[in-house]
Amino acid sequence: MFKLLKRTLQRGPFTEPLAEETEASGIRRLTHRPPPWGRSMGLRTVDAGSCNGCELEIQALLNPVYDVERWGFRFTASPRHADVLLVTGPATVNMTEALQRAHDAAPNPKWVVAAGDCALHGGPFKESPACQGGIHAVLPVDVAIPGCPPTPEALCQGLLALLERDQKE
Ligand code: SF4
Repeated sequence: MFKLLKRTLQRGPFTEPLAEETEASGIRRLTHRPPPWGRSMGLRTVDAGSCNGCELEIQALLNPVYDVERWGFRFTASPRHADVLLVTGPATVNMTEALQRAHDAAPNPKWVVAAGDCALHGGPFKESPACQGGIHAVLPVDVAIPGCPPTPEALCQGLLALLERDQKE
């Protein structure tokens, strides 16, 4: 037990710095350390009709490699406790009301992050009559993260861009 503890302390955190290059295009690159952040930011994921590919990448944000909690992000069980709605999938007709209600339930100030090509413009589902296109058709979008699905690096960069923007405001 003590050997393991000693080895862990000597090795330091397993988290890795963000790569300078990312596959995702259109995202401002944050290669420097993120600004110090004195608060936490609650994230509530809302699946507006995705294929679940984006959710698999979002799950990776909590693993020891990406570990978004080091920057103060935490996932909440309810939009009532959230600062950010992290929306995946196209704006499907069936989810429009749920999306609006989740947005209404989140306290101000709040932000909307559209994650994935579907959330940006409907992706492969944009021609479907069950889909209204990107999330912007229903909610104001603050940060858009492209990719199908977006990589965990791209998701981190988008969330950090939101932190930086919030600090400037
Ligand atoms: S962007 Fe790609 S992975 Fe994400 S929901 Fe759409 S089709 Fe699935």
